[in-house]
Amino acid sequence: MTTDYPGNLFVVAAPSGCGKSSLVKALMEVDAGVAPSISHTTRAPRGQEKDGREYFFVDNAAFDRMVAEDAFVEWAHVHGNRYGTSRQGIEARIAQGGDVVLEIDWQGALQIKQRFGNAILIFVLPPSWEELRARLERRGEDAPEVIEMRLNNAREELEQAGKFDFVIINEVFERALFDLKTIVHAQRLRYSAQRRARAATFQALNIA
Ligand code: 5GP
Repeated sequence: MTTDYPGNLFVVAAPSGCGKSSLVKALMEVDAGVAPSISHTTRAPRGQEKDGREYFFVDNAAFDRMVAEDAFVEWAHVHGNRYGTSRQGIEARIAQGGDVVLEIDWQGALQIKQRFGNAILIFVLPPSWEELRARLERRGEDAPEVIEMRLNNAREELEQAGKFDFVIINEVFERALFDLKTIVHAQRLRYSAQRRARAATFQALNIA
């Protein structure tokens, strides 16, 4: 069963190193109309991460309970941990016509599309394998074997890109951000969205 809401649900997925987080962060800095959803995860906090800001950090038992209570609209195993989007985090906002952006993995994205037929799935691609490897190495966060694992995972993840609605190739960051803003803007210009947002204008023009 799919559910439709007046708000837009944007889902951005990409293998690690493609710049997904930076793109979503930059979008939210320039567009106050898009709110993030804070996921739950069983992984431990890293560095400066704070509970309730980057993620809600929960143990396996708490995650199991939420799964049993059907509290997630999607969840998946990613890199050995579980991550999920809570219903509570998004439904109220999109039901009121607000936009939400989810930064999740491809498995979660496809679950969202099944539940929310109008969700907009966006896949971010690197410009090339060489560039993806170079970015992972430049980050300096991972050991060489972890980088190899991420690249191997990326090969499988990229096979999913064809199931998404939009593709952004993140070669030049500003261009990729422009592409993301354009997708968001275009959704807001859809007939149904305009009719809702500009009800008085439509009425004055006698448009049903
Ligand atoms: P990280 O642990 O590096 O923050 O995230 C690892 C991966 O999990 C990223 O690809 C991220 O997008 C994904 N992820 C984060 N939150 C969720 C979620 O709620 N659901 C799913 N399916 N994936 C998520």
